[in-house]
Amino acid sequence: MAAYEYETHDYDVVVVGAGGAGLRATLGMAEQGLRTACVTKVFPTRSHTVAAQGGIAASLSNMGPDNWQWHMYDTIKGSDWLGDMDAMEYLVRHAPKAVYELEHYGVPFSRTEEGKIYQRPFGGHTTEFGEGPAVQRTCAAADRTGHAILHTLYGQSLKNNAEFYIEYFAIDLIMSEDGQCQGVVCWKLDDGTMHVFNAKTVVLATGGYGRAFFSATSAHTCTGDGGGMVARAGLALQDMEFVQFHPTGIYGSGCLITEGARGEGGYLSNSEGERFMERYAPQYKDLAPRDYVSRSMTMEIREGRGVGPDGDHLHLNLAHLPAEALHERLPGISESARVFAGVDVTKEPIPVLPTVHYNMGGIPTNYWGEVLNPTKDDSNAVVPGLMAVGEAGCASVHGANRLGSNSLIDLVVFGRAAAIRAGKVVDPEAPNPVLNQSSIDAAFDRFDGLRNANGGVATAELRLEMQKTMQADAAVFRTTKSLADGTEKMDGIAAKLDDLKVTDRSLIWNSDLMETLELTNLMPNALATIAGAAARTESRGAHAHEDHSERDDENWRVHTISHITGKQVDLSYRPVITDPLTTENEGGINLERVAPKARTF
Ligand SMILES: Cc1cc2nc3c(=O)[nH]c(=O)nc-3n(C[C@H](O)[C@H](O)[C@H](O)COP(=O)(O)OP(=O)(O)OC[C@H]3O[C@@H](n4cnc5c(N)ncnc54)[C@H](O)[C@@H]3O)c2cc1C
Repeated sequence: MAAYEYETHDYDVVVVGAGGAGLRATLGMAEQGLRTACVTKVFPTRSHTVAAQGGIAASLSNMGPDNWQWHMYDTIKGSDWLGDMDAMEYLVRHAPKAVYELEHYGVPFSRTEEGKIYQRPFGGHTTEFGEGPAVQRTCAAADRTGHAILHTLYGQSLKNNAEFYIEYFAIDLIMSEDGQCQGVVCWKLDDGTMHVFNAKTVVLATGGYGRAFFSATSAHTCTGDGGGMVARAGLALQDMEFVQFHPTGIYGSGCLITEGARGEGGYLSNSEGERFMERYAPQYKDLAPRDYVSRSMTMEIREGRGVGPDGDHLHLNLAHLPAEALHERLPGISESARVFAGVDVTKEPIPVLPTVHYNMGGIPTNYWGEVLNPTKDDSNAVVPGLMAVGEAGCASVHGANRLGSNSLIDLVVFGRAAAIRAGKVVDPEAPNPVLNQSSIDAAFDRFDGLRNANGGVATAELRLEMQKTMQADAAVFRTTKSLADGTEKMDGIAAKLDDLKVTDRSLIWNSDLMETLELTNLMPNALATIAGAAARTESRGAHAHEDHSERDDENWRVHTISHITGKQVDLSYRPVITDPLTTENEGGINLERVAPKARTF
């Protein structure tokens, strides 16, 4: 057994992650007087949320008529009928309140002439239950909305005495013999000390796992660490096959150009200069949802109408927009286009390509953020002491495809909901749990094994092999063959985790070891993604299966549940929740309106 000395810290709540979700949860917990620690591997304001550009969706009606029922309809249709209705209703009904709270906390939103919060159009957001024109629902702080939110929430959390443990890497959960989460084992990156956090509730807010793919808009820190920890604790991941490709990653770097660019009037064109989205989505054109636009773009490229010497990408045009509008509303992306594509957006189009952007799947939760451990008898059974929020979680409001600007609102609505729930279930007077020593020992053993790994494959080499395989075989279009080939390749790649070589044995700023821990987290996420995709013989949302091109509600309107042990993935299924929180008589949505139908735009 590996012997590491460690320091123990007792809290009511430990939040792992300081992105939008983690900070909103931390703030909410601290405001209620719970002793709250937030543990994060990067400085809070460097979390990936800082890169969110376009905005945050809420039916404020500042720019024209809107209401939560329309937002709910769009979210359900956007999800391709895989989202849970109770969670979707909770999201859209609490969205306006959550945005006003942000405003009062100090987020510097852009303003209309009358001083109201400015809102822009975004893909898939409509009026009149998809019958009317596009709506302006996405609240924005220029094209730096995530940046503004993150800085504000960090300041507010400090003000409310939340305690931050910065550049601490969470290795594994501490679980009791009877399945309760008791805390988390961490490694302090800058001095090599070890820390055990004992908590009545642990909240995982570790973000997505975009880096399982080769080309992603997400930060290099987005390595699905929460999903990895949950898988190792024997718990489930949900709907992992649904990976969103954003239509406009800059060709080459993958750096994002926000959908807000099309919201402000930008459009896509092919090698013939044609505005091709008019053909695929006559009503909403470039503002159809992302899965739809990414698929249309891929079709254009495959049919030989791509641009560039290899005909392998497309153009995003902004040059027709007034220079002042670009300067005022989209300053950040003008800069990105200049730096990463050498393009002046006021004169030339930006070369773009669909790029991995968001993980709809994650750790299954209810709409209070409580992690689920679905069993045969109870598909909604809860894991005591464990919550998950943000991109790491799957509530599931995005189902098979997330609408743009629905993630930032998911972070704050469910971060807030988790805090409300913790206020009810966590008793500050109760003693902290007696920690299960064998669970702590197991975490240190795993850590020590990787630290001394002396095999034949370097971490960076194996990571690249995984990323290329996922990019080639589990991309925008999938076939029975590509998924079978990919599954087989991933099986071989995952087996090589036993043959890793770590060259640096120190404990201080050991990025080799940290990236190895991250790779052991990416792998179960990637395995579940491709296994779930290979099993799902239909097309739904972001999962476009060429050999099964129709949606199959009779057999497949179900959540995929995966348990991952080593390289083995066991799949089972959990029913989608089709009852909203309120009936039509109570003012809720009309169920016939939101019944599954063909998804056209
Ligand atoms: C470029 C880009 C632009 C986007 N624009 C928009 C937009 O305009 N609107 C919108 O709605 N959505 C947008 N999204 C999506 C949205 O920003 C993300 O889904 C969201 O920010 C994720 O937030 P999070 O709090 O879940 O995680 P993150 O912000 O990724 O934060 C994760 C946190 O977990 C911590 N962490 C992870 N692992 C560990 C570990 N092992 N130990 C300790 N700490 C750990 C990290 O330090 C970090 O603090 C965008 C995404 C990208 C990539």
